[in-house]
Amino acid sequence: MAMRAPAGSPKQRDPKKIPNGDNAAQGKWGRAWEVDWFSLASVMFLLMFAPLIVYYFVMSCDQYGCSLTAPVVEVVTGKSSLSDIWAHTPGVTARAAQIYVGWVTFQVALYMMIPDFCHKFLPGYVGGIQEGAVTPAGTVNKYEINGLQAWLITHLLWFANAHLFHWFSPTIIFDNWIPLLWCANILGYTVSTFALVKGYLFPTSAKDCKFTGNFFYNYMMGVEFNPRVGKWFDFKLFFNGRPGIVAWTLINLSFAAKQQELFGSVTNAMILVNVLQAVYVVDFFWNETWYLKTIDICHDHFGWYLGWGDCVWLPYLYTLQGLYLVYHPVQLSAPHALAVLLLGLAGYYIFREANHQKDLFRKTDGNCQIWGRKPKYIECSYTSADGRRHRSKLMVSGFWGLARHFNYTGDLLGSLAYCLACGFSHLLPYFYVVYMSILLIHRCLRDEDRCSRKYGRDWERYTATVPRRLLPGLF
Ligand code: NDP
Repeated sequence: MAMRAPAGSPKQRDPKKIPNGDNAAQGKWGRAWEVDWFSLASVMFLLMFAPLIVYYFVMSCDQYGCSLTAPVVEVVTGKSSLSDIWAHTPGVTARAAQIYVGWVTFQVALYMMIPDFCHKFLPGYVGGIQEGAVTPAGTVNKYEINGLQAWLITHLLWFANAHLFHWFSPTIIFDNWIPLLWCANILGYTVSTFALVKGYLFPTSAKDCKFTGNFFYNYMMGVEFNPRVGKWFDFKLFFNGRPGIVAWTLINLSFAAKQQELFGSVTNAMILVNVLQAVYVVDFFWNETWYLKTIDICHDHFGWYLGWGDCVWLPYLYTLQGLYLVYHPVQLSAPHALAVLLLGLAGYYIFREANHQKDLFRKTDGNCQIWGRKPKYIECSYTSADGRRHRSKLMVSGFWGLARHFNYTGDLLGSLAYCLACGFSHLLPYFYVVYMSILLIHRCLRDEDRCSRKYGRDWERYTATVPRRLLPGLF
């Protein structure tokens, strides 16, 4: 899942000029090899400004009641200065460092030391050792899928602590929010830098490394495809899922606990945000095996975009609604709350069902039922870097016949629901849907560029059959 600052688009090539299996396209789909000025400008912009954006949002809640305009107005009118704002920002503390190190160590231990047991007793759940997609170099990696169990153990311990042991306050995350931000940044930059150095000096799979010749682009978008330490510590799977997404629901619980502490009750808006986002998170872990076939794992390289994004961007910006509700305890009217719930569930249903349809279609090679019928598809072929020809199919039935990325449309409806739960007084909670729209539209364009390089003319036949990207008849 992922979450993360968008990066520059690779240069668009005319698919007509890329016959299937052309040497120029062979094994090169997946990432820009020539970095154009727009991609480079986007990369530089994000490297410079993404950390500031995160700081700005968190600071505006801490110092300005979540107003996005107040800090600018105060600085422009001279009521406050940048140094005043900085002076009021809590720094890193030993307590936050202890919490963060303990948290990441605990997640590493759950990831590395406890082989999955959930698949042994949960019907329908696919966990344990699973295979990823074929990489451009033709490798198939194996993964230990145990995210659901890590999430369950972590949350059981959280509730056991809150109701039985009382080792720490459930508001611990909120109470250390900004000091923890600095710790998350240290980890994000360390892991991204390590991944870059590792890509140059001791890559896990040299054939799957890509060097563009531009240092900043390599740092941002990554050199190594699937960096690992040892046989099983996979950077992408761990950082995408564990410190950030397991934390997402705990962060929301901590915000709910803070609301309870401050106001004596938890509002229905906070409950809605907790429940809708928890559905999304549990879905992610329930479908972690499916996740191995998503763009994050099977196409993106591991650089700052994923490393820093998973450590900082995701936990801090995906949880803005809960943070906002601590400062503004919105209680929604029953019709408003019901509308948010229905929109959130409808978005989730489309997101899940569209993803499920593609997964089922690919797993059964088209021998399945989609909306009660055998799915229609377009036969495609492509060539991996080792020169081998592969065959594939693009479905044009079900949600995939309505638009080429209807799964993104569902995701966007769900994102809008989280924001609408916060009422209409401030802009800050709406950042999420704006960001997700940029991320998913950009992702859609990036994916389509990659697919057109990969499938050549077959991709053209597909886009002629399903002409819209996100909204039937519109876009
Ligand atoms: P998709 O699951 O849409 O995967 C795109 C890939 O699917 C293409 O590259 C192609 O791969 C294959 N494909 C495309 N069209 C078809 C078709 N018609 N039939 C069969 N296969 C097809 O993209 P993502 O991995 O980006 O997204 C997965 C989910 O994760 C989405 O629902 C998205 O909303 C969500 N997401 C959430 C994020 C968050 O931050 N919350 C961030 C990113 C994604 P191939 O090369 O195999 O043909």
